[in-house]
Amino acid sequence: AAAAAASAKKKGQSNEGMDVGKEEDFPRWYNQVITKSELIEFYDISGCYILRPWSFSMWDSIRDFVDVAIKKQGVRNAYFPLFVSQDRLEKEASHIEGFAPEVAWVTRSGQTDMEKPIAVRPTSETIMYPAFAKWIRSHRDLPLKLNQWSNVVRWEFKHPTPFLRSREFLWQEGHTAFATQEEADAEVLAILDLYRDVYETLLAVPVIRGRKSEKEKFAGGLYTTTVEGFIPSTGRAIQGATSHCLGQNFGKMFGITYLPESGGAAKTVWQNSWGLTTRSIGVMVMTHGDDKGLVLPPRVATLQVIVIPIVVKGREEEMASHARRIADELSEAGLRADVDARTDKTPGWKFSQWELKGVPVRVELGPRDVEASSAVAVRRDTFAKTTYPWASLVDDVRALLDVIQADMLAAARATVSSRITIVHGWEGFVPILDAKGMAVAPWCTTVECEEDVKKRSEAASLAAAAAASAAAGEAAGEADERALSGAAKTLCMPFKEELDKMGVPEMAEGACCFACERAAVAFTLWGRSY
Ligand code: AMP
Repeated sequence: AAAAAASAKKKGQSNEGMDVGKEEDFPRWYNQVITKSELIEFYDISGCYILRPWSFSMWDSIRDFVDVAIKKQGVRNAYFPLFVSQDRLEKEASHIEGFAPEVAWVTRSGQTDMEKPIAVRPTSETIMYPAFAKWIRSHRDLPLKLNQWSNVVRWEFKHPTPFLRSREFLWQEGHTAFATQEEADAEVLAILDLYRDVYETLLAVPVIRGRKSEKEKFAGGLYTTTVEGFIPSTGRAIQGATSHCLGQNFGKMFGITYLPESGGAAKTVWQNSWGLTTRSIGVMVMTHGDDKGLVLPPRVATLQVIVIPIVVKGREEEMASHARRIADELSEAGLRADVDARTDKTPGWKFSQWELKGVPVRVELGPRDVEASSAVAVRRDTFAKTTYPWASLVDDVRALLDVIQADMLAAARATVSSRITIVHGWEGFVPILDAKGMAVAPWCTTVECEEDVKKRSEAASLAAAAAASAAAGEAAGEADERALSGAAKTLCMPFKEELDKMGVPEMAEGACCFACERAAVAFTLWGRSY
């Protein structure tokens, strides 16, 4: 209570900056950072958020990055309707079984009840594939590669979190059809590599590529691959994006067949679907943000450089015009730069403001800098300062942005790597998760075992939480709530390359599953997750 009062007091002093530390109270920190930096405005329907220009421009960057890459792979954009009839949505049994609890239905128009309710798309397989069946006749119509940029609605029952888990979100969904499984398999991996690049190259967020377990795979699909992210502050993993091979399941249900070149009977196509959402922005914010606010990787930052004149009495206009010239030179060279020459704010206020908004480089220009024909660049990620002469400022700042981008990824990767531990038995498994880590373990890959690990890890953290809350004198319900999210699940079975990077050895002959008596089949990454 005393702490709350102290922070309320602090809040009263200034409502503009952050008043809670990232490690002090992460959920509150996250809410503050996304609202105060003007990424998000809350809305009166739970799970729905307003994306303000500061975040939407990042979605634009992500969209451009993905759009260029998929078009190179021969994918074309199209748009399909938002609504889907019940008959269609329910055509593929295991697909609807997976999505049914989250589907939002329109049941009325004006005052009239609809004759048949229609669903708002949670994903568009069942909307697109009847058209695929019409468009694909012969081997000449293959491959068919379409993508749409759209919104989808999933009425999530899990606690919503802006960007990470919203009820309406923006995404791209790719849907492709091939003659052979080999082609489909190859594309699944090519898209997964693209998703890794979005996270690592653009957002400076490290991810681990792998395959989902049977329990966690896409409803109705053959297999799912994923890029898994990890939020060190909470110790929770997050599914970054997924690339699914749907096999021939949907093809059979929707009658998507082609006449092969070799002649003979019609064959069913092989299909993939793949999606990346606005969740990626939230993962980036959580990864890089600090106690002062956002820290944006230069490649995705709306603004890369902010130039701030340090005014002295009598020389306001002179300083401002130098600052303006520098910002113009940076902009002309293709950097996203601006000047903050507002006269009603002090330089110190401006520094805090642009730190809160995460701009990667601040260029300060004081009278002494002007005399020396130089300027001071301050990095947002490390606060390191360097003085550059005007003559080479553009090139120096460009190079600095590249260094920041690389350093941010390296730093984030080092942190995530330090949280991965190899375990061989049940002992030590839950403590690793409790220490905000992930475990790589030899696993039998059975659904029963995954269910069992979920129950056992939940029970273990329930016991720990009950003990902790008894000590703190809390009600039992509160402990339950925390413990429910304490269950472990499989994040993915990392690809060989990823296991090598983690230093995981070859599976020993006769190795046993870490959690049961069965034989181990694959090293699998486990953790708590969002
Ligand atoms: P899916 O079609 O279910 O594989 O979803 C594609 C991707 O969307 C997942 O890999 C998640 O990264 C992301 N995603 C799933 N649910 C949400 C949500 N409620 N809000 C934001 N992103 C989501």
